[in-house]
Amino acid sequence: MRYTIKTFNEKFPNDDACLYYLFEQTYGNMTTCPHCGVTEPSYYRVKNRKCFECKDCGNQIHPLANTIFHKSSTPLRSWFYIIYLFSVAKNGVSAKEVERHLGVTYKCAWRIAKQVRELMNQETGRLTGTVETDETYI
Ligand SMILES: [Zn+2]
Repeated sequence: MRYTIKTFNEKFPNDDACLYYLFEQTYGNMTTCPHCGVTEPSYYRVKNRKCFECKDCGNQIHPLANTIFHKSSTPLRSWFYIIYLFSVAKNGVSAKEVERHLGVTYKCAWRIAKQVRELMNQETGRLTGTVETDETYI
């Protein structure tokens, strides 16, 4: 199946979908809570915050920690969209294109492009789990 913009939009309709995705990729297979040790822990999303909390002990997990998305003022979905663009572009994506797509300043666009480029060149990136798109694995 081809990974098109339609696929992307369906899978990541908003920032929350992206956040859940990151959580699932990294912590979806957790069999015990790393903090209290309860088996098959149930972590729920903390309202209005980008973290998840153990129902039993209150331990919080921040899926954005140690990723390029952490403390960024750029919406998570914008990051994901740029990663999508990079993954489908045959000849890379320029900062100018990022600027145009996101409507951000060139400086901001340049930084985003640089970080995504670095991420995609890494064998084991900080973006945890497998991000699968057409012909590209991050
Ligand atoms: Zn716990």
